[in-house]
Amino acid sequence: MLIVGNWKAYVETLTKAKAIMATAKRLAGKGSHEIVVAPPAPFLGVVMSGKSKVGFAAQDLSLTTGGAETGEVTAAALSGAGVTYAIIGHSERRAKGETDAMISEKVRHALAHKITPILCIGELTRDPDARYLKRIREEISTVFAPLSARERLSLVIAYEPIWAIGKSAADAITPMDLHEMVLYIRKVLGDFIPGKGPTKVRVLYGGSVEPGNARLLASGSDIDGFLVGRASTDPTTFAALVKAVS
Ligand code: PEP
Repeated sequence: MLIVGNWKAYVETLTKAKAIMATAKRLAGKGSHEIVVAPPAPFLGVVMSGKSKVGFAAQDLSLTTGGAETGEVTAAALSGAGVTYAIIGHSERRAKGETDAMISEKVRHALAHKITPILCIGELTRDPDARYLKRIREEISTVFAPLSARERLSLVIAYEPIWAIGKSAADAITPMDLHEMVLYIRKVLGDFIPGKGPTKVRVLYGGSVEPGNARLLASGSDIDGFLVGRASTDPTTFAALVKAVS
């Protein structure tokens, strides 16, 4: 499984960043899962120093490609620093005005610099007529349509229903609903990737994953891992979560 810890802006001190990183190193060293952390950009350099099996993700990347762009962090700069994944299209960025078209461009910037995009998709709410599925299809299609066959296979999709983010295990999706959604996502991918290709694209789940619900979500749903927010920012909780799916 691929387990990505999105520290968001929860982590604001070096001490805390180092403590979570020490746990991530220990978990990655055991080798049964791929562990990736996404710290706030200023901490990337510190947590990336020294040898470890932990992978590093950016929480976002810039739409710009360099030059006179104060405050922007480009895909090229992230790649130069050793970052190999980038969370793109997170609902908290979309809420600040990021559109599908912008997300598609960011994905292409990432790929151009050998960064694997973790494309976040997910509906705001669910309606009884399942019209939210149309939104999921749109989010996937806008990004996948302009990509080459090889690029399409390299993306990671993080399905994160917005209604389940930042709450508690009781508010997370049920394993059965998650399984249905994973099947639907792979069906949509079938419009862009021939044959058995869609099964090769890694699909993660994110939204109130905790040590108490991780195992059930993982075993009943055909997902390839988790994108974890709050529970990844406490070393003990993160370790318990990874242990629960090991
Ligand atoms: C997220 O925002 O990517 C996320 C999964 O958050 P949480 O685990 O806190 O719901």
